[in-house]
Amino acid sequence: MPKNNIISIAGKQGAFENTRNALKQIDLSSIKGKSVLIKPNCARVVKPEHGYNTHPDAVSATIEAFQEAGASKISIGESPIVGIDTMQAFEMSGIKDVANKYGIDLIDFDKVKPIKKPIPNARVVKETKFSSVIFEYDIIVSLPVTKTHMHTGVTLGIKNFKGCLYRHEKVRYHQLDYLNEKHPEKALDSAISDLATILIPDITVVDGYIGMEGLGPSGGHKLKSNFALASWHPLGADIYACLLMGIDPASIPHLRLVAERRGYSMNPNDYSVVQTDWEEYIFPYQNPPKEISIEYKNVVFKDSESCSACLSTIMLFLRRFKSDMGQYLLDDGNFHLAIGKSVDDAAEGTVFVGNCTRKNKDRGIFVSGCPPVPTRIYEAITGEEPEENEPDVV
Ligand code: SF4
Repeated sequence: MPKNNIISIAGKQGAFENTRNALKQIDLSSIKGKSVLIKPNCARVVKPEHGYNTHPDAVSATIEAFQEAGASKISIGESPIVGIDTMQAFEMSGIKDVANKYGIDLIDFDKVKPIKKPIPNARVVKETKFSSVIFEYDIIVSLPVTKTHMHTGVTLGIKNFKGCLYRHEKVRYHQLDYLNEKHPEKALDSAISDLATILIPDITVVDGYIGMEGLGPSGGHKLKSNFALASWHPLGADIYACLLMGIDPASIPHLRLVAERRGYSMNPNDYSVVQTDWEEYIFPYQNPPKEISIEYKNVVFKDSESCSACLSTIMLFLRRFKSDMGQYLLDDGNFHLAIGKSVDDAAEGTVFVGNCTRKNKDRGIFVSGCPPVPTRIYEAITGEEPEENEPDVV
């Protein structure tokens, strides 16, 4: 069970001070002599302050708090979305500089021996593969950045632990069948709750300095919400992070499932917030749209059992190249895209993106890769290289 149900919230002071102030109000005395693994959200090769990755100043503040509390060892680890090099992501995000400054090890979870763990009473994932190093630490800290998520509503502390899974194991969570038709939630939500029955954050530190709203986790808009939160309670932390984002926590299926399966309360009143004025830090996020066509007119997008990597590629492709696609519309006047292994109702002439769609390759334009980068999609459609030189980041 979590050590306590206390939630500490701070804001309006920037990523470092927000995080430091939030952490000051939770009791870290039991950390003394313990080894600590920090799991940020650093899944994409993007510079800081774009709302993709945890802000490096929030990582600095977290390290300082745990150093002061007497942690015997602190490391930072990540397994990003498929196709992304972990160390490149650490470098571009600014987290590598932070690690160097404080003498902290960076761990690429994908380069460490994997370990399989059974999940008793699983809904959809009977056993799962982690990077084994995770289980060598006394305390694991989830340090997500606040983002809405097209597949899961939000991605916060609990969902961030999907990045503890080994390499393509993350993709499997997006491609599961229901084991039991009694479960109405998406298989991905059930899978996250399965994972949370055997691995859940000991401490959650939420970086809400610059997050992402709308088409998250990678196609949304960044926004400066300028808050941070810290707690020993993994669900309490995510519930209050939702409230700070102006999102009803009860609308997030994986949080409801985790509450049910671990015996935690979904009622915010059952948690104790240190700061009486915490509501001053609420900064509403726009929910993800139900359809991409709401954000991108004239785009028909089919997505069935894809993972976040191809979804990210599509978002980046549309953001960069949608305006160049006018001459590639189908007869219905729309531009058609599809991702995911079970997409089978896409129109003839659709652009099928990613190796998972290979079975459709004779029905339209097939773009190989796992995931392909946005420029490869552009080249497959137009037969030319794009004029602009912007690097592909996913
Ligand atoms: S092809 Fe795309 S959806 Fe399929 S596993 Fe690779 S990245 Fe994920």
